[in-house]
Amino acid sequence: MMTASRAPSTHPAPTTATRYAGVATLQPQLILDWYAAAARDLPWRHSGVSAWAVMVSEVMLQQTPVARVLPMWAEWMARWPNPSALADDSPAEAVRAWGKLGYPRRALRLHAAAQQMVTRFAGNVPSAVGDLESLPGIGAYTARAVAAFAFGARTPVVDTNVVRVLARAVHGRAQAGACVAAADRANMEQLLPAEPARAAVFSVAVMELGALVCTATAPDCPACPIRRDCAWQLAGAPAYAGPRRRAQRFEGTDRQVRGRLLDVLRATSEPVGIGALDLAWADGTQRHRALVSLLLDGLVGQLADGRFVLAGERPGQERSG
Ligand code: SF4
Repeated sequence: MMTASRAPSTHPAPTTATRYAGVATLQPQLILDWYAAAARDLPWRHSGVSAWAVMVSEVMLQQTPVARVLPMWAEWMARWPNPSALADDSPAEAVRAWGKLGYPRRALRLHAAAQQMVTRFAGNVPSAVGDLESLPGIGAYTARAVAAFAFGARTPVVDTNVVRVLARAVHGRAQAGACVAAADRANMEQLLPAEPARAAVFSVAVMELGALVCTATAPDCPACPIRRDCAWQLAGAPAYAGPRRRAQRFEGTDRQVRGRLLDVLRATSEPVGIGALDLAWADGTQRHRALVSLLLDGLVGQLADGRFVLAGERPGQERSG
């Protein structure tokens, strides 16, 4: 964990007029009060929402904006209200219903996780972090998010928003820089209120603060509930001196080509010949590379006659949705 005395040399050292707040200085109640007044009304945060609904929302929200997730999450919940319902359907339907959320391996893994929940946990979402992490596609973040938000566990939940808030408020850095998930989890652990239910709300409150106020490019410090104790503010808001992240482009990438090929397969439950896929992207080398990667990822399968289908597609069967 980075402490006040081990601040990075690229940033100005604290003077008598400035100090790094450190974890102990931040007051969780200020963030909890702000959250109670300012939080977005998101359906997966409603009381009574199932652990499965929380899990699906957390998987969908990875690298995907809330506005795009909302309609897809609602569709998934209506169609597959529990793990058993999804496990009973084909993985092809999960990939098809993922639509344009991006990173469609998430759909495949969610389907595999649903199958394991049926076979290993009687169709229920497990509550222990270790059990959650043992499921396909459920990593350290998602496991803790589900344990906290669905089961009220006291466990540190650290996403990119939380990392950014900690970098600024605790360490006095403008940006988080290199990923230090374990250290950030330790920081959050120290900040969590003792009572598990409050701790779970605190985790989502810090995430919300990062999403709405302490944003990546334009933190709204005057509106921030912890501005008086924020290490970055106390240090005089020093500029970020670390390496710049290059913006990820999408146009022309293999990701875009994969999406185009999947669009062709999503549009039909019938097997598709290579000719139809050839029409999806002009560059043959890139198209071939994307198709091979989809096959290797298991998102696309090839039949004995050479035609292609979505993962686990059962040609000739009626779609469920
Ligand atoms: S005061 Fe500004 S930089 Fe500090 S936590 Fe709040 S929004 Fe982020």
